[in-house]
Amino acid sequence: MGRKKVYLPPDTVELEGEFSPSAPFSTGTIPRHGNKPPNKSNHFLRHSGGVQEDDVTPSAPPLDLMDQVSGYESTSFDAVCVPPPPGMKRKGGGAMAREAGGEEEEAEEEEVEEEAAAEDEEEAAATAAAAAAAEDKEDEEDEEEEEEREEREEEGLVGQKERAEGEERDEEEEESSTRGGGVVLADTLPVVSEQEARTALLNLVAEHCCWGKAAARNMNITKIASTSAFHYEMQTFTEKRETSWAFMPHSGGEIDGPRYGTAPRPWDIVAEPTDIFRNEIKVLQVPHTASVKQCHRCRGAGSLLCQECHGKGWTRCLSCHGDGWGSDSAGNKERCFFCQSSTHGRGRQDCLKCNAKGRVACPPCDSYGQIRCYISLTISWKANTSEHIVEKSSLPADLIRQVSGQVVYEEEGARIAPLLHFPDPTISLASAQLLLNHNRQWPDKKMLAQRQQVRMVPVTEILYTWKRRSGRFYLYGYENKVHAPEYPQTCCWGCSIL
Ligand SMILES: [Zn+2]
Ligand SMILES: [Zn+2]
Ligand SMILES: [Zn+2]
Repeated sequence: MGRKKVYLPPDTVELEGEFSPSAPFSTGTIPRHGNKPPNKSNHFLRHSGGVQEDDVTPSAPPLDLMDQVSGYESTSFDAVCVPPPPGMKRKGGGAMAREAGGEEEEAEEEEVEEEAAAEDEEEAAATAAAAAAAEDKEDEEDEEEEEEREEREEEGLVGQKERAEGEERDEEEEESSTRGGGVVLADTLPVVSEQEARTALLNLVAEHCCWGKAAARNMNITKIASTSAFHYEMQTFTEKRETSWAFMPHSGGEIDGPRYGTAPRPWDIVAEPTDIFRNEIKVLQVPHTASVKQCHRCRGAGSLLCQECHGKGWTRCLSCHGDGWGSDSAGNKERCFFCQSSTHGRGRQDCLKCNAKGRVACPPCDSYGQIRCYISLTISWKANTSEHIVEKSSLPADLIRQVSGQVVYEEEGARIAPLLHFPDPTISLASAQLLLNHNRQWPDKKMLAQRQQVRMVPVTEILYTWKRRSGRFYLYGYENKVHAPEYPQTCCWGCSIL
């Protein structure tokens, strides 16, 4: 390096009371971001003027400087997901409204597991499906015996859990065994007339400048067949909680440190989403975890040596090469125009980056020399959506999603049961499978609510002949959208060559 270290007494404030690293040692499992022992800080303070802007320093203070907060031992500067406590997770959606105490909950769980033997038809079906799927999977894997045994045990647990959840559902909704059975699909499919079909097709033709109208006008419509597609959608609303150490510049004032109480555990902090089934992220400060520390970047100085001028505040004048003299057009010697009014004397130019001061503001502490460290809690609510579309004609199933239909079944609750007796068995199968996936998919998250919906979307297939060629097109949705991929007059010559 070879540059001179300028001694500058750091602008530090006595932090008595607030500055209290109660446990400067990490647990050993936490990756340490720095390697500077805190008890040597005086040494660094003395040389704080020497911290240069481009010096390689950790982006965050060393973890071993952080306070040890009970319940947050594994917190690092990277976000760590905290799974909800077991009782809370199983309780699931009860969640949003009621929260039972820990002991009570455990007792309830045991009870529920015992009762599980008396499960009804519906749960039996779901559990059997789960077990069958699990066994198939195991057969494929067929690895070491011990491993397999462990897996079986796990599956057993899962089965129990599902049964337990099933029981909970019963408590909440009594008519669950007839779920979906009550759905009567009224024969209200809109019947499309030949005229309507033709008009819809002509409208589509009008949207495309090079499609010919003649085919739509003159085609001979031979058959109109109305069917209905089903759009099944399931949503599980989950909550994820992540913690991490965070810091911000500290400009003084009161902080919410340990002396105000014990920090609540991540899942004890009360926070509600603004809306159910809407994605949202909230970032909170965990109460009573704040402390003030010396800035790790400038070591309390509040500023850093300017990288441009290495702290001098000036750079050698490039015009006169530092001697302060130049010459006019006639060759007469005169003061260098560029550095004659410089702050640091002739031959030198003011450093523009630091305004000739030699130092620049320290970004992490915003020149205050101190930072406030605290544990940050990030709560993410998410509506996880799965869907299944039943479309029997050759109309691409994806199109069904975008158009309007009629809601024929709708259900929302803390936990829902599979829609087993829907008139279309494919929907029932999809419902059972998707629900199994949803109930297993987020072990680290809390499930707050679930809902499912079936929409019936009208689909009309129209067969026609035109100029001895036959073809078909579709009308779908209540808005009569047209899908006509094989329309005979789609392009003029020029277009089709291009
Ligand atoms: Zn700083
Ligand atoms: Zn500078
Ligand atoms: Zn000059």
